[in-house]
Amino acid sequence: MRDVRFTNVTALDSDRLHALFVRHTQPYCHEKLTVRVRYSRSSEFSGSCYYRDSRIFINLGRKNKYPYRLYVHLAKAQSNSRMWWRRACFLTVENAYELALFIYLHELFHFLVKQAGRSTRRKEAMCDRFAARVLVDHVGRRITDKFNHDVPRGVWDFQDLDALVAAAPRVGQLLLFPELHAARAARRRPDLSGIGATSVRSAEL
Ligand SMILES: [Zn+2]
Repeated sequence: MRDVRFTNVTALDSDRLHALFVRHTQPYCHEKLTVRVRYSRSSEFSGSCYYRDSRIFINLGRKNKYPYRLYVHLAKAQSNSRMWWRRACFLTVENAYELALFIYLHELFHFLVKQAGRSTRRKEAMCDRFAARVLVDHVGRRITDKFNHDVPRGVWDFQDLDALVAAAPRVGQLLLFPELHAARAARRRPDLSGIGATSVRSAEL
């Protein structure tokens, strides 16, 4: 399997980070991705995804204290005639590797949405749900409310996110069925919304 083009200029172990990212990208293809992990200038964390050259940046604050609590956009947005709101949910990560993984997965979902030929607009909550699912299922972290009580899974894990990006290439698919993928790509509607970068988000606590 070819690796993502991966660079890490933080003090974190590159092999460990890279293995973490590759493991949790599967079953989706990562051959096209370029991933760079670095320290942020001032924010506690941020991430960005550039569709044009398949590039993901992960920026980590140098002075973050762990465990680190993130506000995450997980619950369904609710509204009445005057306003909308979302139930507050938090994810606490134990170390910088877990924070980097969360940011990576958030940006990866943006990338997969684009790869699947779907509209890239207004996907922030879905990206957070995609990332949170891995942190809960594979790393053992909890989703909590502001009182540190567990948030029931159904409140945030109610969408079939894999179905949304089902048309994104999976591992081996490009090599096995290149003509099939080319035909599918040709059918995709042009998407004018993904012209530059998306989603530079900073910590909100
Ligand atoms: Zn985003």
